[in-house]
This record gives sequence, C-alpha cells and structure tokens, in this order.
Amino acid sequence: MVVAQKRDYYDVLGVGRTASADEIKRAYRRLALKYHPHVAKGDKAEAETKFKELAEAYEVLSDPAKRQQYDQYGHEGLRGAGVHDFSSMGAGDIFSMFEEIFGGMGGMGGFGGGRARRPDRGYDLETTVALTLEEVAKGVTKTIEFERTDFCDTCSGSGAKPGTAPVTCKTCGGRGQVQQAMQGFFGASVRIVACPDCRGRGQKVEDPCKVCHGTGRVRKKRIVTVQIPAGVHDGQVVRLRGEGEPGRSGGHRGDLHCYVRIREHPLLGRRGNDLVCQVPITFSQAALGGAIKVPTLDGPEKLEVAAGAQHGDVFTLSGRGLPDMRTRRRGDLLVQVAIEVPRKLSKKQRDLLRQYAETEEADVQPAKKSFLDKLAQYFGAGDDRNQT
Ligand SMILES: [Zn+2]
Ligand SMILES: [Zn+2]
Repeated sequence: MVVAQKRDYYDVLGVGRTASADEIKRAYRRLALKYHPHVAKGDKAEAETKFKELAEAYEVLSDPAKRQQYDQYGHEGLRGAGVHDFSSMGAGDIFSMFEEIFGGMGGMGGFGGGRARRPDRGYDLETTVALTLEEVAKGVTKTIEFERTDFCDTCSGSGAKPGTAPVTCKTCGGRGQVQQAMQGFFGASVRIVACPDCRGRGQKVEDPCKVCHGTGRVRKKRIVTVQIPAGVHDGQVVRLRGEGEPGRSGGHRGDLHCYVRIREHPLLGRRGNDLVCQVPITFSQAALGGAIKVPTLDGPEKLEVAAGAQHGDVFTLSGRGLPDMRTRRRGDLLVQVAIEVPRKLSKKQRDLLRQYAETEEADVQPAKKSFLDKLAQYFGAGDDRNQT
C-alpha cells in the first residue's frame, strides 16, 4: 500500500499548536473558500487536493478528542479514530460537509439549490492483525474483535423512541436546506444553508430514543473473521468491505482495513520470500564438515555443511522459505554458519590442539597463505626502505 506523506494539520491550516477552536474554524473557512473548486483559479485538481487536505485537518483539529490524540501521537495516533478518508471521497461529499459546517456557498457559484441530502458513505476503520511466520507460510483465518459506531437496535437507527417516528422538519419541508437572504458586498443575495432546525437532516426526532439519545447510533462490539493469504508481508492491508461504520442518510458502510504486522521469530528472519538464520558450528565441524540441525518453519532439519566451511558461509535449503503471494513458489532458507571458538578446553582438547597446531605450518589454508604472503611482502618492502 502506498501511504502518501501527510502534512502536519496545524501547518495545513496555518495556525499555531495552541490555536483556539474559533481560530481553527476561521482559518479553515478562510482557506477552504480560497481553495473551493468553484472559486479557485488555476489548477482545479490541485485546488481539490488542497480542499480535501483542509477538510481532513479541520475534522481532526476541531474535535477535542481527536486533536489531543493527534497532538500526542501524530497521524499514527488517529488510526482507527474514525477520521474520514478524504482522499478517496468524491469532491461533492467534501463540499457538502463544508456546507454543513458553514452553511451554503450561495452566491459563489450556487451549488446545492435545494437538492435533497445526498447519502454519505460511512467511516472506514482500521485495525492491526499480528501474524507469526508459521501463519504467513500457510495463510490463516483470524478472528478480529473491534468496536464501531453502529445502528441503535432499540430504535433501529431512527433515533426516535420506539413507537414513535421522526417527523419531517417543518422549517425546511424535509429538504434539509433553507434559503437565507443576506446583504453582501455586491448587494443582496440568497444563499442556501443547512436547515438550522434539523441540522440538515430533513427530519426531526421529537421523542428521542433513550438508548442512543436520538442519534440513532451506539458503540457496538463486532467480531469478524478475515482470511490472510499465505506469503503476506508486513504492512500490507487486507480490506473487509462494508465492515466500517454505517453511512448517513442510507449511505454505504465504510470498510475495515486490517494492517498486517509480522511478529518476530526467535530464530528465523525474513528477507523477501526467503528465510534467514544463523547457526553456530564448532571449529571441528567447520573443518571436517558434517550434518548440523537447523530450524525451519516445519521443525528442525538436517543440513550438510561442507568440509572447510568458513565463518559466514551461507548454505541454502531450497524451498524452505515463504510462499510468494501470487506464484505460490516458496523461497529458500539461507543458513549462515558462525564458527564458535571454544572459550574453555579440557586438558585432552588442549593437547590435541597443540599437536594439531604443530602440523599447521605445512598445512595452511589458501586464505591464510595469501595473508602470510602479504605480510611478508609488507615487511620485506619496509626493510628495503630502511636500507636505502
Ligand atoms: Zn429542517
Ligand atoms: Zn436508539
């Protein structure tokens, strides 16, 4: 998933971190009017992007709880906090949100014009699923429990006390918007604003439901299962469509985004679809070769170490890695050997090693031989210099 770098919300609105709610609102209004695609000059797409960015910054900074989360933890702190994903929203939805906050933009291009409320898609939610490498190897079905704002069962989401129903707002006749005459710089004009009586809903609850206090929404626990494909990588997202929060005015539910986190394995690391591990071997195993036991996701396995193995040499167990998400082909297990020099020797071992050492002069390894040659050359050259 590509996550665009987000700008600081205070920078977006051009206010200080201690700005009051009123200052934030005014800054938003001023900038939103500037970048409103109906008035902005120049690049329309850029203006729309700016407008969305402003809407998101305002949504967070105008909400004391979200603002505090953001101040403390930054963008990361808002995961799952129910912030609109403005970048994926149509421009029209954002403009109507703007209208809801400030009333219409009448006289500035006149959209709205008394049309009925458009349904809004619900919030997307985010959660994290942690997997072990064993689960990544085979794929897994995970049960996720999370909380979301959902329809109130008592009133079926209407917000009205059972036995009663919301009534059409008399002020706006159910349209959710009213016309307002205003005196501006350029004379009198009429603008369309959200109905102050029903707050744009078009309907009013006269006898509110006691459970949800007339909002029609309550927090609910939800349990879903999610299929995570084999070979998934850390940071990938599995989307569960329609598991987010319900929309307004009959809008679609948002989605639930499950971020995959891969837990650290005590012995195995991951490099793409390959697994890597480091296995200690003794000096004699390295010199003589032999079978060693190495960890794999399916349990320990034998690996043949060639005689004369060097510290850091890598041996491959092919097909013992993780499956590729698309091709299903499994990667390899790369085993790096680390030669351990014994810290303590028994008397017998010491004697044997001394005997061995006595044979060494005639039996130098190629790497050591070239090292000795270079050493001799270096000192030899040094001697020459001293003599001249
Ligand atoms: Zn109304
Ligand atoms: Zn209710």
